[in-house]
Amino acid sequence: MDLYEYQGKQYFARYGIPTSAGGVADSVEEAVVQAQAAGYPVVVKAQVKVGGRGKAGGIKLAADAEEVRRHAGAILGMDIKGHVVHRLWVEHASDIAKEYYASFTLDRPAKTYLGMLSKEGGVEIEEVAATNPGAIARIHVDPVRGLDLATARRWVDDAGLDDAARVQAADVLVALYRCYDEGDCDLAEVNPLILTADGRVHALDAKVTLDDNARFRHPEWEEFEATETEDPREQMARERGLNYVGLSGDVGIIANGAGLAMSTCDVVNQVGGSPANFLDIGGGANADVMAAALEVINADPAVRTIFVNIFGGITRVDEVAKGVIEALARVDLRSPIVLRLDGTNAEEGRALLRPHLSERLVAEPTMLEAAKRAVAMAVMPGARGTEERA
Ligand code: GDP
Ligand code: MN
Repeated sequence: MDLYEYQGKQYFARYGIPTSAGGVADSVEEAVVQAQAAGYPVVVKAQVKVGGRGKAGGIKLAADAEEVRRHAGAILGMDIKGHVVHRLWVEHASDIAKEYYASFTLDRPAKTYLGMLSKEGGVEIEEVAATNPGAIARIHVDPVRGLDLATARRWVDDAGLDDAARVQAADVLVALYRCYDEGDCDLAEVNPLILTADGRVHALDAKVTLDDNARFRHPEWEEFEATETEDPREQMARERGLNYVGLSGDVGIIANGAGLAMSTCDVVNQVGGSPANFLDIGGGANADVMAAALEVINADPAVRTIFVNIFGGITRVDEVAKGVIEALARVDLRSPIVLRLDGTNAEEGRALLRPHLSERLVAEPTMLEAAKRAVAMAVMPGARGTEERA
């Protein structure tokens, strides 16, 4: 889960990372109130979950209430790379002497944590990496040992940060690492981390991605979840404990195993169709799971056919077949289903399904044939949605 800047700064504050005083505003008048509280001059910042807000005109300095009104009015409702601004963060403006970059993330190939620090902050780190890779000081942090102050100080020296920032920057890095580690972040990035004209180091921006797998031990993340604009299909799937990713096509997909589900998406694409989703019902799928999966897919208005692709290994196909039959009785499906069932107890499963087959429930012997059938049926007049679209 990605956080808005203001939420990232709240999260930083819990770990003692210094930020500027400020507040959120959802209207022009609220922005003026927040500006008054923060003290002029202020900076008015668009809250959208996308970078490069500055360049897009979503970040403006304001010296008085009049300027706050003008900028807040212009930024609210602005579209930044497809994200419409509904909320502002207004904070006391900093007098910037230097802009640095600092982040922690996971280095997958190295199987450990990666810290990146640069004295070339304020611009996109990808740009620094491309034009001046030597300007990024990288360290790996052993998750068991953590980051100590002495290591952080050497790292700051390696990166060549200014003398005036040395001591404070090392403190901030240790705090940022704690935020990343104890706070269960996938990414904790500060760009820019600034040195002010009066010699203070603090976080001017916050980009935090929380590790969704750690939700269970962070009840306090609920407030962040409340502002998350999740795909309603994904929300519905999550509530049912399903492994679902929404896509933009019209062939609903149910498969057992992430690998098979991905291959199913590929094969639908290969035969000229477009998957509406990825859905892995996992091993040992029963009627409840199948019903839940069909419910979620049925709720997607874009779906025109459903492709159920099961290869029984540990999962027994006869159990899956029973699940499909039971689910059909429970869920009032609006799209036809194409089944491909193979593997353990496939014959038994097919026999169970035979009496239920119709033009709304068809079976094909192979994955490729089933994909072709599902894609062909999606464009047939009988498929769901034709009336609305005509
Ligand atoms: P981003 O463009 O989405 O990464 O948004 P940032 O929060 O990083 O802001 C972009 C740029 O706006 C920064 O790199 C600064 O140059 C500038 N900026 C942001 N806050 C302040 C501030 O308090 N004072 C000044 N002078 N500039 C600021
Ligand atoms: Mn930034």
